[in-house]
Amino acid sequence: MKAAALLEPGNIGLIDTAEPNCGTEDVVLRMLGVGLCGTDMGVVRGERTAPRHPWVLGHEGVGEIVAVGDSVDNSHLGRRVALEPNYCCLRCRECKSGFTSGCSDRIAVGLGTPGVLSEYVAAPAEFVHPAADHVNVRDLVCAEPLTVARSAVRRSGVTTDDRCLVVGAGSQGLFLCVWLVAAGITPFVQEPHPGRHELALSLGALPIERADGHVDHVFETSGVPSALGTALRHAVAGATVTLIGMGGEPLGLSERHVVNRQLSLVGSLIYDHPDDFADTIDALGGLAPRRVLGAEFGLADTAAAFDAVAATSGKVWVNIDGAA
Ligand SMILES: [Zn+2]
Ligand SMILES: [Zn+2]
Repeated sequence: MKAAALLEPGNIGLIDTAEPNCGTEDVVLRMLGVGLCGTDMGVVRGERTAPRHPWVLGHEGVGEIVAVGDSVDNSHLGRRVALEPNYCCLRCRECKSGFTSGCSDRIAVGLGTPGVLSEYVAAPAEFVHPAADHVNVRDLVCAEPLTVARSAVRRSGVTTDDRCLVVGAGSQGLFLCVWLVAAGITPFVQEPHPGRHELALSLGALPIERADGHVDHVFETSGVPSALGTALRHAVAGATVTLIGMGGEPLGLSERHVVNRQLSLVGSLIYDHPDDFADTIDALGGLAPRRVLGAEFGLADTAAAFDAVAATSGKVWVNIDGAA
């Protein structure tokens, strides 16, 4: 079977590889689509080290169950599912308390185990989520990053009475806009890229210039310290600032500023198994997150898909079977 792999840092190509074995607690998926995000870009650029080469890329995968292991209920055969690509251990203290995103034994697909840009993939049945039959594949391929956004909204504690600001309208900022608007909250958005800014407005966000006065919640998705500085000037005393961006630079935020303004800083990493993902899948049909998709490529054109990520407004995805 074919898979799209990193042959060496910066060089992506198609490889022939063996079809996956189905373990007793696994399912085998015929892959339908995979979204690309900054994490994958980090692997391609060598900022995150691939365990070996060639290394199959991708983690935001959806597929159809075509085989199940001996211990798995076969009633889901034929169902379309989204993969939850973070396999927490379910045994440690954090996992037992429901804080599975804090699991130190968590295996991230595409980083610690090979990715899903492949015609077939085996995955633990525990970490695949069936969608209702009517859900469009384009909506389903948004499930993983949409769950990241949903978890940030949940952890922030934002309510419909709050004014909020989304910093950055890359995919994560756009999915935040989808959730917030659906929850009855109109976010202001700060984004320098005209196409991304326009896409955020099309989802129901308002330009930051309209935020006369201050906001109670800031969601930082850009990872750019200077963007956070601008955003904090809009935060009221007592505001909550939820950080989702993965910038590696110091924030340039003084302790005095946080104390004087009595800000709450919340780091939000992925999601907690299984409810965040399951609840997102249940809500997919009504949210139409496919509005965030910006460009589509075939599996053979995965290298071009990665090249397109930086300049595209909206999420780039690989349509693996071409039929969706
Ligand atoms: Zn991702
Ligand atoms: Zn654990």
